[in-house]
Amino acid sequence: MNFYGMTQDDLKAYLKGLGKEQFRAQQIFKWVYERRTIDLEQMLNLSKSFREELKDKLSFDLPKVLSHLKSVDGTQKFLFDVKDGNSVEAVLIPSDGRLTLCISSEVGCNMACKFCYTGKQKLKRRLEAHEIVGQFMQVTDLISPQGQRISNIVFMGMGEPLDNSDNVFKSIETLHDSWGMNISKRKITVSTSGVVPEMWKVAHHKVRLAVSLNASNDDVRTQVMPINKRYPIKDLFAACREYYQATGDRITFEYVMLKGVTDSVEQARELHNLTKSIPCKINIIPFNEHPGADYTRPSDEQIELFHSELMRLGSHVLLRRTMGRDIFAACGQLTSEFDNKPKQMDISNSKIGSVYDRNKNVKTAFTAEGVPRV
Ligand code: SF4
Repeated sequence: MNFYGMTQDDLKAYLKGLGKEQFRAQQIFKWVYERRTIDLEQMLNLSKSFREELKDKLSFDLPKVLSHLKSVDGTQKFLFDVKDGNSVEAVLIPSDGRLTLCISSEVGCNMACKFCYTGKQKLKRRLEAHEIVGQFMQVTDLISPQGQRISNIVFMGMGEPLDNSDNVFKSIETLHDSWGMNISKRKITVSTSGVVPEMWKVAHHKVRLAVSLNASNDDVRTQVMPINKRYPIKDLFAACREYYQATGDRITFEYVMLKGVTDSVEQARELHNLTKSIPCKINIIPFNEHPGADYTRPSDEQIELFHSELMRLGSHVLLRRTMGRDIFAACGQLTSEFDNKPKQMDISNSKIGSVYDRNKNVKTAFTAEGVPRV
């Protein structure tokens, strides 16, 4: 039994089965998550015989860190061994005083979104809850000596979170638990490609919803995201409206710009009309290249035109600054180590993103090193 796969309620039920008091679960959570001690010998508020018993029953194994890469812009990427020859990646992204961990939920992915590197790798298996919590714990232990702490979690790594919803929401309950890692649910975002029947669970668990939209109409969306055949935009937006009605929380729509496919000014207008009736934010993500990609990144000028048109029309839009592209840690670039994936990418000549400051009405572009361009 892996401890990290159990919510506090699971542990209480487990301990009850062993004839132990319920409050012991809180004591063990406090040792492990707050004091970061997994040595049962140190848990002196548990009796010696109980500690001995737990030694045989509980495992505190975490996914092993196989590699740890750092980008010139401060992004860090971790490759984890999740047993049986499988591995997944997680990315730690610093921005605006936040430290966001992008977590994987599956090894590979069956959604086969055409612009995504993970989508080229078929689903090998869904991660267990302890492997999801384990990514968080490992990164926490690696950064805490530098006085750093993860502030936000996004389920936007490898896999479709709502294709593995039981384990994803179980891990969220533990990460949120005040006796666990105590991360506010306002700071946890679950992203989906549009698994409509599962979307109510995001509202039920009171976490933020991001939808990987990537097109302004069904024809284009079906072309780049096969799931749109099963759950077209009309159904997807009905589920989004239900989420908003249940939570009152604005939805984030992710929109990957693909040259000649999703980057025209007409599509910006169509996107505005599609989303204007729903309280939302649109994140524009210029396509990030990966080996064997079928698409290319639009020119900076075209990205600006698209962005400006949405702003002119009044959409709440953010042109996301691309982070970690030099270490293949940017959006859509994650995968297990397979094929001949390069470890580094030369981005020295590219503009990697910009941010718009609404208050000052100023847009700032960033270089590969993450410093503002003049
Ligand atoms: S974008 Fe997400 S859902 Fe689509 S293939 Fe990639 S990991 Fe899967």
